Amino acid sequence: MDSDIHILSARWVIPVVPRNTVLEQHSIVIENGNIKDILPTQEASTRYPNANVTDLADQALIPGLVNAHTHAAMSLFRGLADDVPLMTWLNDHIWPAEGKWVNTEFMRDGTELAIAEMLLSGTTCFNDMYFFPNVVARTAQDMGIRAFVSMIVIDFPSVWAGSADEYFTKGLDTHDEVRSLSRVNTAMGPHAPYTVSDGPLERVRTLADELNVQIHMHVHETHQEVADSLAQTQQRPLERLNQLGLLNPRMMAVHMTQLTDEEIQLCAQQGVNIVHCPESNLKLASGHCPVSALLDAGTNVCLGTDSAASNNDLDMLGEMQTASLIAKTTANDATALPAWQALEMATINGAKALNVQHEIGSLEIGKSADITAINLNHISTQPVYDALAQVVYSASRQQVSDVWVQGKQRVKNGELTGADTQKILNNAAQWGERISAANQES
Ligand SMILES: [Zn+2]
Repeated sequence: MDSDIHILSARWVIPVVPRNTVLEQHSIVIENGNIKDILPTQEASTRYPNANVTDLADQALIPGLVNAHTHAAMSLFRGLADDVPLMTWLNDHIWPAEGKWVNTEFMRDGTELAIAEMLLSGTTCFNDMYFFPNVVARTAQDMGIRAFVSMIVIDFPSVWAGSADEYFTKGLDTHDEVRSLSRVNTAMGPHAPYTVSDGPLERVRTLADELNVQIHMHVHETHQEVADSLAQTQQRPLERLNQLGLLNPRMMAVHMTQLTDEEIQLCAQQGVNIVHCPESNLKLASGHCPVSALLDAGTNVCLGTDSAASNNDLDMLGEMQTASLIAKTTANDATALPAWQALEMATINGAKALNVQHEIGSLEIGKSADITAINLNHISTQPVYDALAQVVYSASRQQVSDVWVQGKQRVKNGELTGADTQKILNNAAQWGERISAANQES
């Protein structure tokens, strides 16, 4: 009767819940896409004698990584404009390029490229903010990864919508379309305090409550954003968002590099989720998010890569390592953000921010089998004294061997199982040629 049961027998299982735990020689039992049991491998063979067994003798199993902030299709702009500050990057490079190139074909090809990179590096769920969220949703469903797509709202027209009203209409249409997809959900996506005015923000708050979805927004990304807001409104952006009733457990505030002690306390009291994007902040010199102080105050802090155009990769293993290292130097404290806590940020904290912690984010009985296997039998990760620290501080994404989403294997021996990798590469190269040829002409 066990034929529908699949067992992953691993050298190490790092469940994340309970905290800071490494189980040696353990097996995860999967049935109907969910985790049915976690037990010592010796007992698994007697308890489930007829199950299919995958032997992962060199691997550490961790929960699938949750990338809590990205703009997936922007992968096609990777390397288009480097070494410039945020507003130059946006005004002179990214926004003009988006106006010229982004259409449904760009979205499909760019999102495929990003999802391939994410799956291959152990990410099983991503939270996206971009145009054509309907295309992102469909692509994610087809490629077998979980996604949250934002109903993006901006004051000015774009390739996606011409007015605030149209952003809402198209967003709500996407929300309705996505309902039939098993792996995709939505969030409200007001772009940032400096690009969305009060009226639309009030509507965002009302709709988020009505639809029971999260609110995904760039907030306090740079010093300039806060200074401009003070000059224009005499308010810091967080103060304005608080007055509009947006600082609550639905809010996923991305970046947050400029925070006073009072603002840290306010976010903790009101249950705001913070999405830390350390590598994007480093690359654009946006500042440092005070992660240790936020965690000490009791705030939920998770991790995102931001887009590959400002990172320049979608590698959550690398993001964990960077987060831990810069938290230590920012806090001037080597004990700040230990490995187990960085792994929580990349898994269960992301699930909490997205309000799906009952379903994903840890390896626990009853949760979905969203699992990443990392091969530690590698020159760069031997010997292994502490498998969890090795995953965070030493492992690279090339060591991700296998990935399951809802119990279905999406990466096997380092290769995508359900996508044409060559086609994805060819499409990306063609976009690159087209965009650079046009840039040379102008
Ligand atoms: Zn972003």
